[in-house]
Amino acid sequence: MDLDRLAEEIVAVCRSLFARGYTASTGGNISHRTSQGFLITATNTSFGSLSTNDLVECKLGGTLVRAGATKPSKELPLHSAIYRNRPDINAVVHLHSPASIAYSCLAEPTAGGNCLPAITPYACLRVGRVPLVPYVRPGSAALAESVGGAASALEVNAVLMQNHGMTAFGNTLEQAVAVAEELELTLQAWLLTRGHARVLTDNEVEELDSSIQPGTQRPRLLSGSRA
Ligand SMILES: [Zn+2]
Repeated sequence: MDLDRLAEEIVAVCRSLFARGYTASTGGNISHRTSQGFLITATNTSFGSLSTNDLVECKLGGTLVRAGATKPSKELPLHSAIYRNRPDINAVVHLHSPASIAYSCLAEPTAGGNCLPAITPYACLRVGRVPLVPYVRPGSAALAESVGGAASALEVNAVLMQNHGMTAFGNTLEQAVAVAEELELTLQAWLLTRGHARVLTDNEVEELDSSIQPGTQRPRLLSGSRA
């Protein structure tokens, strides 16, 4: 796909996500792999008013392919880390979506494990295992390292970031967005039940043949937290 067409696709996706409340203000950033590295949304831009001029092509090492006035998102190192660790991934979607932020503040970080409560078959089948990495400053090298590390397992399609939001990824932009939507929907449903949702049994999870290990699909909340 040529860069102009890819830029138009990214802009359309950003505007759609903004219109549906998946992010607000200047939160969130999206990228897609290119032959030279990846195309990423610029810093301090809103998904709601993004144009194709608000995208910057960067190399995997972080340098710009063409010098210009537009600066890439400060989460460029995070996107770069995922592309370096996952050659199968071509698109990365980072969102400050309401349910992902709320849940990331309630659940305990999981290191390499899973924090997503398996309350629907689709949480298992379409999202799978979701690690929650501990809070560190947005845009920091430490955040890029922790998310990139958690994303390095082939069965992982999304990572939650404590007190921050989510990062979803996929082979295509469409797939990355679908994972983000299903993850947000699952967390919304869990929050709507105030954490009392029935979680699928180990046998039911096993039957789905998902990447979630039976017994790990029940969320552990921070002490004192109530959904
Ligand atoms: Zn962010």
